[in-house]
Amino acid sequence: MKVLIPLFALIGLFLFSCQNPEERGMKSEEAVKKGDSQDITDEKESTLYDIDFLTGKFEPDTHPDFVSIEEKYASREGMYMQRDAYHAFLKMYEAAKEEGIELVVRSATRNFEAQKRIWEEKWEGLRLSAGENAKEAYPDPVDRALNILLYSSMPGTSRHHWGTDIDLNSFDNSWFEEGEGEKLYNWMLNHAANYGFCQPYTALNAERKTGYQEEKWHWSYLPLSSDMTKAAKNKLQDEMIAGFKGAETANEIGVVNNYILGIHPDCID
Ligand SMILES: [Zn+2]
Repeated sequence: MKVLIPLFALIGLFLFSCQNPEERGMKSEEAVKKGDSQDITDEKESTLYDIDFLTGKFEPDTHPDFVSIEEKYASREGMYMQRDAYHAFLKMYEAAKEEGIELVVRSATRNFEAQKRIWEEKWEGLRLSAGENAKEAYPDPVDRALNILLYSSMPGTSRHHWGTDIDLNSFDNSWFEEGEGEKLYNWMLNHAANYGFCQPYTALNAERKTGYQEEKWHWSYLPLSSDMTKAAKNKLQDEMIAGFKGAETANEIGVVNNYILGIHPDCID
């Protein structure tokens, strides 16, 4: 394995390097600062946590750190997670199953392009946003973006870009509030942390003041995602969130601070 890790890292570096000349410039400066260290952690950070990665500008099916989720754990085939997050999920799945609870992955990695499709369909009123046609209901761009942001991320700002976050079983909070769903949710509250998972989008209150509405289905693999949250905090600025309809609202809304960083404290460290 020791031989394979740097090779994967190099392949990853090559893939990212092909995408964006600006990124290439920034990366080489970073490499100089780090003195071209051969340390695996440095190489991993330079490939995994660069701006293209954080904003989902890669293909999970060809990324060396991503694996496909077996269909028996998911609602469909063709979904991907980072390898370590997937292995932790499998352990959690088995433990839950022993207590008669079946975890089903409904969504996992979504890259920039996938998130752009969802966002722009809501922006154009082709897909409902919180039960409304956002284009008709909110002619003002900031109002429209804020409506979509109740439940959907702007492309470039989703934790689903990172391969560390999954949506389980149902996209309806009320499903988790009775019967089978309540049992599952209570099991997750009591046990998910043992497998490294936390719920970033708890109810908005004094502890969590900004960001998306509560999502009882969304869970994050903290051993990987906490470093990505830190990298996003250090490297991403609202001006970088661009390349889709309505992106001009990102700055006024403060998407990096209010949404990417608008998570429950349990998901920060
Ligand atoms: Zn989610």
